[in-house]
Formats: sequence, structure tokens, C-alpha cells
Amino acid sequence: MEPVVSVRGLRKRYGQFEAVAGIDLEIARGEIFAFLGPNGAGKTTTVEILEGFRARTAGEVSVLGVDPAHGDAAWRNRVGAVLQESNAEPGLTVRESLQLYSGYYLEPRDIDETIALVGLQEKADTTGTKLSGGQRRRLDVALALIGDPELIFLDEPTTGFDPSARRTAWHVIDGLRELGKTVFLTTHYMDEAEQLADRIAVIAGGRIVAEGTPGTLGGRNSMAATIRFTLPEGTGADDLPPELRALLAGEDGRVTLTTDTPLVHLHALTGWAIGRGLDLPDLDVRQPTLEEVYLELTEEHA
Ligand code: ATP
Repeated sequence: MEPVVSVRGLRKRYGQFEAVAGIDLEIARGEIFAFLGPNGAGKTTTVEILEGFRARTAGEVSVLGVDPAHGDAAWRNRVGAVLQESNAEPGLTVRESLQLYSGYYLEPRDIDETIALVGLQEKADTTGTKLSGGQRRRLDVALALIGDPELIFLDEPTTGFDPSARRTAWHVIDGLRELGKTVFLTTHYMDEAEQLADRIAVIAGGRIVAEGTPGTLGGRNSMAATIRFTLPEGTGADDLPPELRALLAGEDGRVTLTTDTPLVHLHALTGWAIGRGLDLPDLDVRQPTLEEVYLELTEEHA
């Protein structure tokens, strides 16, 4: 099947400065794709080129089979966007805004269904000015969905949300997957990318520095794991078996071991503890978090 987004050798220069320095991307239908990167990495520039709002310097771009530089009204109908800046009409109620926007599209979604999708039923007759920041953002999402687009760009959709509103928004975005939509998500929240994305690309300095699933990005799945625990009273690190002592990476009240084979070393540790009748109540084992991997990737390429 033809990809929904296909980018080859994309470049964007502002004067002498190259903000996007040759990137390749491919996004399949139905995917939730997250685009991560530090401030100034080139995310908005790339997204605006894909949306047809910005001209590129070089490269090939196809969005829903069309070059966005030449996208017509029919193409625009198939693409929805939630921009960083709210685009709702402040004087209109939620329902009136959606009625207005639905008039711009050939085959709009049902208005009440769209209101329900973003969880604004109780605010349907409230004007934009009386909505909270998080509710306005939900209205933005509803406005992006009203045209029933195939591809939706979400630019930092949950910035400023409280934790519970973020969960609701994630639920809405996840629901788009079930509707068969393709989502291009830009975010600075690693937990958001981890929760939602099928695939992540990290851009730094105008280049894609890593691409993968949340679990495999930057070789995350093969990175060393850490095993941490507090030694029981009367026991010192010197009492640990030599194979574990060799993994000692730190001891500040809690012992930290780093290992490429956590299963083997966990077995050695629990065998040692059980053999001595010791308990290790705060034992934990973990792989690097997505945030740790991301920071490493972007620091390297800063
Ligand atoms: P953020 O996370 O802060 O939104 P971003 O990854 O979206 O950042 P862009 O907005 O794409 O970054 O900007 C990439 C680089 O291009 C930045 O260094 C920015 O200063 C520069 N830039 C963006 N727009 C223009 C412009 N119109 N003219 C000149 N330089 C620009």
C-alpha cells in the first residue's frame, strides 16, 4: 500500500541556515507517528512543509499521494491539523464553531458525535471564551476532526493539560487509530510518545538521528539494564558474589548493578539472598526510559 506520507531528502534553508538538512520519512496508513526533537530541531518546519503551508528548498514530498506544494481544496479536505496556536472562534459556542467549520468540508463528521469524541458534551453550548485552556485544546482537536480527515497533524496537542485531561486526550488520539486515521504527532512529552506512538523519529539539528518503536528506539531494547536494591542490615557489598560485585555501578544507600543479561544476574542475586534467608524488599530491575534514550540521542547530535 502507498504510504500516507513519503519524504525523500527534504531540505529547508532560511538564508544561510539549514533548518532541515536532508530527511527521509515514511508513514503508513493507520499509523500513529511521533516526531520528537529539541527546540529548534526542525519539527515545525517539516510539519508545515507536509501541511503545504511552507515551501521547501529541496527534496521529494508526497502526502496522500499529492505534493503538498500543489495541494488543492480536495486534498486539503483530507488533511486535518491541530496547530500550536488555538484556531477556535472565541465568540461562538463549541457547537457553533463546529457547525461553522463543518461547512468548509465536503463530507463532514456528525457534529454531536465529534463533540462526544473529545468529551465536550457538557460544554457544547459554552462559548470559546468561557472554556478552560484544556477544553479549548479539545475543541481544537474537534475542529481538526470535523472534516473527517484521513491524516491528522497534532502539534503538541496536550501542552498545558492537567494529568487527567492528558489521559482523556490520549484516549481520543488512541480512538483515531480505531477510526483508521493516520496521526502525525509532535510532542515534547516522552510518556505521550511512549503511550501513543507506533513509531517514533527523533530529529536534532535538522537530521533524523533515530527511528524506531518506543521499545527499540536508539537500541533501547539492547541497552544495559539496572538492578537496584538496598542491602539488608549487617550485609555489605563485599558479601555479594564476585560476579555481582563486578557489576557494581554505585552504592549510595542503594546498590546499583548494570548488566546486559539481567535475567542471569537477577537469578544470581535472588539465589544469594534466598540462600542466606535475606529479603530485598525494594528490588527493582529496569531498562533505560525513553526519556533517557532521547536525551542521549539528542545530546550526541546537539
Ligand atoms: P520547537 O520545539 O521549539 O517548536 P522546532 O523543532 O519546531 O522547535 P522549527 O520551528 O522548525 O523548530 O525551527 C528550526 C530552526 O529554523 C530554528 O533554529 C528556527 O530558529 C529556524 N527558523 C524557523 N522558522 C524560520 C524563519 N521563518 N526564518 C528563519 N529561521 C527560521
